[in-house]
Parts: sequence; C-alpha cells; structure tokens
Amino acid sequence: AFDRKLKEAGLPEGRVKTSHVRCFGACSDETEGKCTHVLVNPDQVFYRIATEQDLDDMLEMHARKGEVVERLRAPEKPITQDFYQTYGDIHFFNHQNRIAMRNSGIVDPESLVEYVRHGGFQALATSLGKNDPQWVINEVLKARLRGRGGGGFLTGKKWQMAHDQEEKTRYLICNGDEGDPGAFMDRGMLESDPYNIVEGMIIAAFAIGAQHGFYYIRAEYPLAIKRIQKALDACREAGLLGKNIMESGWDFDLEIRLGAGAFVCGEETALIRSIEGKRGQPKVRPPYPVVRGLWGKPTCINNVETFANISAIINYGGEWFANQGTAESGGTKVFALAGNVKETGLVEVPLGTPLSKVVFNIGGGVKDDKALKAIQTGGPAGGFIPAAQADMEVDFGPLAKAGSIMGSGGMIVLSEDDCMVDLSKFYLSFTQEESCGKCTPCREGTTRMLEILEKITSGRAELGDLDKLERLARLCQQTALCGLGRAAPNPILSSLKGFRDEFVEHIVDKK
Ligand code: SF4
Repeated sequence: AFDRKLKEAGLPEGRVKTSHVRCFGACSDETEGKCTHVLVNPDQVFYRIATEQDLDDMLEMHARKGEVVERLRAPEKPITQDFYQTYGDIHFFNHQNRIAMRNSGIVDPESLVEYVRHGGFQALATSLGKNDPQWVINEVLKARLRGRGGGGFLTGKKWQMAHDQEEKTRYLICNGDEGDPGAFMDRGMLESDPYNIVEGMIIAAFAIGAQHGFYYIRAEYPLAIKRIQKALDACREAGLLGKNIMESGWDFDLEIRLGAGAFVCGEETALIRSIEGKRGQPKVRPPYPVVRGLWGKPTCINNVETFANISAIINYGGEWFANQGTAESGGTKVFALAGNVKETGLVEVPLGTPLSKVVFNIGGGVKDDKALKAIQTGGPAGGFIPAAQADMEVDFGPLAKAGSIMGSGGMIVLSEDDCMVDLSKFYLSFTQEESCGKCTPCREGTTRMLEILEKITSGRAELGDLDKLERLARLCQQTALCGLGRAAPNPILSSLKGFRDEFVEHIVDKK
C-alpha cells in the first residue's frame, strides 16, 4: 500500500526512496499486527502508521510538504547522544546503545549493496588486509567480549585456543538455536541484519583458521533461514565466500543446518551431534569442542549476538568496545524485554546498566502502574531478581551472584500480581519436558521436583516438602551432566530464596 500510494502521490522523481527493512524492535507498538513503523531519513522522524488515513496524511504532509505529522509521531523524550543513535527522539531507543543491532530497521536485510553502503565488509577487508589472524584475536581479547549465548566465556580466549590447535582441519559454528520461552534476540538479528552475522563469522573463521562453517538455526525461524541463505548466496557470488576470498588466497565457506526444536540442542556438544546427524544429546566435557568437536576436529561455537559484535570491534577497535561495558565485560547486551512491562521489544544496553533502567526508562515501567515484584533473567535456566535488587548492574558476575544468569537475553518483568510458585512451576515444566533423559539427576530430578510443585499448587503439600524440594534442586544443580540440568533448579532456588513466604502461604492457606 505504501509503495502504491507513493506512486499515486505523483511526487517528483527521486524525491523519496523506500527501503523495506525488518524489525525495529519496538514490539509493543505493533497493535494486533496492524501498526507499521516508518522511519523518515534524514529527518529522523519515527511514525506509527495504523490506518490508510495515517498513510495519506504522512505522504501529503511529510513527503510532499516536508512537515512532520505530530499526531503519528512516537512519544518524544530528550535525545541522549549514544553511539549509533539513528532512530530519532524516542525514549524506547534513546536509552539504548545499539552495536549488535545497529543496522536493525535501518538496512535492507536482503541487499548486499545496502549493507556495504553502511560500512559492511570493511572489517573483513581490514582483517584480511592485515593478513594476521593473531591481530584479529588480539582485538577481540582487548574488547573483553564474552560469549552472548549465556556461558560468558571470553570469545578471544576461545578463538585463541582454536587457533593454537595442532590439527589444521577446523570448523566454526554459529549457534542460532534460540529456544528460551520469550526470547527472540537471535531471530531479530538474523532477520534484520544477516550480512553482519555472515561478516562476523568470516572474520572469526579467518582468526581461527577454519575452512568450513555452519549456521545451526531452528527450523521454526523460516524468515531468518531464508535471509541467511540469500546472504550466503550473494556473498559467494561477490567473492566474499568460497575460494580465494577477496583475493586473499584463503578459502572458507558456510552452510545452514536446521535444528528441529529440541531445547537441549542449544548445548554445544548436543548441537555438534545434531549436525553430525546423530541424536542431539550432550556429551561429558572435557574434551571441549574447541579441542575435539565436529567430526573429532577443533570446533569453535559462538552465538548469533557474539558474531553480530565482531565487525564493530574490528572497525572501531577492541578498546573502544571494552569501554562500552564494565571492567569484566565489554560492550552491550541485547535483551528480549517482555512480561508485565509497558513497552516490550528488543533492547540493547551497555553491560553495567542497572536492571531498573531497562524496566523503567526503556520499558516505561510496570503495566497498569502496578508495583514491580521481580525481574526474571536467563530464561528457564535463570532466576528471579527481587524488586529490592532492581538497581543491580546487568553483567555476568552480579546476576550469577544473585542466583540468576545472563543467559542469552530473556528478561521478563513481573508485577505484584504474579505468583512466584506458578512461575517456578512453569519454568520447571519446560525444562522437565526438554530434558533429554540421558542422566538420572536431570531426568528424575526435574520430574520429582515438578511433582512437589504440583502438590504445592493443588494444596496437597506439607511444609517439609519445601526442604525436600530445595535438597533435590541442589542435588540436580551439582550432579547433572550438562548445563540444562544444572541450571534447571535456578528458578526454584532463586524464588525460594527471595519469596519463600509465598510457597509457605500456598501450603498453609490451602490446607
Ligand atoms: Fe540430558 Fe538433562 Fe542430563 Fe543434560 S542434564 S544430559 S539435558 S538429562
């Protein structure tokens, strides 16, 4: 409709150019899927278009006369001059600092030309021009970039280990098997800026000396798969993938493998087995994949967001990136902000930002102005941070200390109306269902813990059951084979720590 109306408006040739981009990340505006966002550049005016009349008004006033239609404009707040501030004066964006998502909603995700026009592949040219993988690794080490999949291992260190292996056949994998309930960071980045992820992967492959790489993307993300495939084809045709990349004499290629929706396949060793065509079950580590991974060869696995940061690190320097974050972790983190918050969507903030700033300054506060009860981070492997600790800085260390984890970036806001027992049960039933069944502590432990939670919610529990629940949770945490089982008790343990009274009330009141 936009293109048709623009044509009918009979504007002078070349006055307006449209670009079909992907998600801006401001989900709460998409009222029943009927609202479309339009960013008018170079004026930096962000419109919410919901009806045909809105569209007519915008074309008549802005496109023809150059006047802003205030009625359709997103709410204004003072602009903060953060890096990559390109969305205009909207508070949802102004408290963000977008590095990994800097092109989301700005660049046409299906156009290699447009990506290049926005500085795309400069970082690859710089890396290949240096002809020194160690220089690339050093920049990533300086950046203090930690794995954004949740583990938080230093990316530069992982690359160094892969680079230093004697075995010369090496693989690179992009983990796009995003499975946490409520999380859509990887999806957003794969769909909005696929070339940036491809560029990050090619640079990583050069750094570690890989010859072949894989995208492991869940099959439920058809648009992401289509766009990555299109990006790979275009890059191959342009000499950015395949033989003799950018005439450097170095060969590297990438292909997509689809995940079938098993949550456990996000775990590195299970993911590797899945690519090998075997049942997706974790293996005991060590040896770590970086030593013996895909088909027994050194394999480096990083998450989508980790790769999304690489080109900016090379272009602006590791030190610049490190300065965006904390003393322990450089850069920013993308969160999928959801739950009982006024404005939901994809949010990218510097590490070290207080949780309360994300909820109140970006998300606009708790829905219906209710009191904040807790913030859940890290998905089913994470935990609940009580409102009293909402000023805690977002970083790997502080979140772990509070009994939660950073995870891949799920952030659910809970209001005074939310029941912690029900929520603990929800997360545990997810992990219980997704347990692969290989080891007893997780297979049996999650089932027994779920039984106790069901007893509590149905009024059949005794107070002693709480101690039993806690003991089982700690046992599972200490003895399960992989991260899924070890982290499954986190929601229970953190809610027992911060909200034990609620569990007791459930038991006593229902008697
Ligand atoms: Fe499977 Fe759970 Fe054991 Fe991991 S901890 S191997 S998911 S049973």
